[in-house]
Amino acid sequence: MEHGEIPILRSIEEVRFFTKERPLGFVPTMGCLHEGHISLVRRAREECATVIVSVFVNPLQFGSGEDFTRYPRDSERDMALAKEAGADAIFMPEAAELYPEGFTTEVRVRRIEDVLEGVARSGHFAGVATVLAKLLNIIGPESMYMGQKDAQQAFLVGRMIQDLNFSTRLVVCPTIREYDGLAMSSRNVYLKPEERSAATIISRALFTARDTGSTDPRVLEETVHNALAAEPLVALEYVFANDAATLGPVGPNTGEILLSLAARVGKTRLIDNVLVKRS
Ligand code: AMP
Repeated sequence: MEHGEIPILRSIEEVRFFTKERPLGFVPTMGCLHEGHISLVRRAREECATVIVSVFVNPLQFGSGEDFTRYPRDSERDMALAKEAGADAIFMPEAAELYPEGFTTEVRVRRIEDVLEGVARSGHFAGVATVLAKLLNIIGPESMYMGQKDAQQAFLVGRMIQDLNFSTRLVVCPTIREYDGLAMSSRNVYLKPEERSAATIISRALFTARDTGSTDPRVLEETVHNALAAEPLVALEYVFANDAATLGPVGPNTGEILLSLAARVGKTRLIDNVLVKRS
């Protein structure tokens, strides 16, 4: 179970017997850790007596044509980075441990799973909700740390926690970006050099829209649309301005707008978002 100095927990049994001082903080990831993940671990370290990071590339949340098999994996590096950021243990289960033969339950967060990313990635959020419900039950943390980078995911998990009475507090942490604004993502390693430079248009487009000062959803969406149209290597899949508190349409009571998009840069699909204050 030991790797260097950080305990590697490979089974649910090992998690159960691992000594956890409370409060326990949990950071779920799919590995290939970067500064975005590390920021979550550091926040958990500040607030909790024990910090557990999970590294699990969850097959349930990948569609059939998606990148499950080629998703970047580097467990040795993940162990070192998690340790350095202050984690006390890493939970690295095999898929067969979480989904043994006969496994058939699915957690669905209706409506929220049907918008934005859920439209493009059918079944994705059922996979996310199901694995996180399992991980919350296995690990039993007081707090779980997730990134605003995946705003809809955090929103959906918050809803699930409320609806299913998990006693975990969800802490949503800010998006960490590269020096040029590109949101950090494990998928950025797929980008060829020319794609990597073209991809900076994504965050620039979102910041430009936010900085117009407009809170009209159409203006925000069009600004992003027009900015991305100027970059031939980037194909916008969608951009939407939604009420950040509901993910529904912006209305008179909207306090904050979530301006989110998905775009393809070559074969790589990236997502990003900004929050736009309304008042
Ligand atoms: P992933 O490994 O992509 O499933 O991400 C694991 C967690 O890290 C999720 O809660 C993500 O929202 C969060 N995360 C990923 N990228 C970033 C980022 N650039 N900034 C902050 N959090 C992030």
